[in-house]
Amino acid sequence: MLVIEVHETPERDERLFRQQLEWAARHFTLVDLPTFARLWQEYRTNPRAPSKCKPPLLFTFDDGRLNNYSVAAPVLESFGTRGVFFVVPQFVQCNPQEARQFYYSRIDTRQLPPSLPEEEACSMTPQQIADLSRRGHSVGNHTYSHVNLATLPESQLHHEIVDSAAQIASWTGQPVDAFAWTFSWDSITPVAWKLIQQHHRFCFAPCPGSVDCRADSPNLIWRTEVEVVYPPSEFRFMYAGLANPLWRRKRERLRATLGDPPTPR
Ligand SMILES: [Zn+2]
Repeated sequence: MLVIEVHETPERDERLFRQQLEWAARHFTLVDLPTFARLWQEYRTNPRAPSKCKPPLLFTFDDGRLNNYSVAAPVLESFGTRGVFFVVPQFVQCNPQEARQFYYSRIDTRQLPPSLPEEEACSMTPQQIADLSRRGHSVGNHTYSHVNLATLPESQLHHEIVDSAAQIASWTGQPVDAFAWTFSWDSITPVAWKLIQQHHRFCFAPCPGSVDCRADSPNLIWRTEVEVVYPPSEFRFMYAGLANPLWRRKRERLRATLGDPPTPR
């Protein structure tokens, strides 16, 4: 099973996203989060199952960008699938003037010249988040204010993880099953990770790898970043898992740090 992590889905790149999905749909079965979770259970109890069909592929989108709502969600729906959208409540609550500043200081911190059109450097609204949920997408938690959990004082973890989930649930009317931490593969601590687990069924890591249903845990789900602007040679490379060996040490270190040893077969 494979989980893809996407960030921007600007309108100007919709055609590229469709082309990538057409390729992905030929090689994988596109699934939503509930199906992903059900198949995980089935494969765990019936190890023969995965070889019978194309591997399941789940799309996730970080930061709750408006263009994920206006572009990514309808494109996924046209392929008969649904995604997971990780939102940031403080970003959601920014007014239009604050949103761009928040986006380029807290979310896209690469210090590059702003690349998004003015109207796209903002968040979905609570109404759009509720609409995504009604349409069968999952809305996940990406911390209250897009903080780095590894450098955050422990006294603020509750706000960034638990209050954030409660705020999102108040918009969707649904439990918030999924959490994705921000920034890099190691922007996490054992204390933060425990708290995440107490309040979510799934925790997604920004660390590439294919998901092994028997050895991996829903509390540490590998995600492979594939952006919509990747050319076919690059996205095929990533989907095929050819970058995964480079990340093996990091996956092992993460497991060891968090105390999540692989399940013995
Ligand atoms: Zn993010």
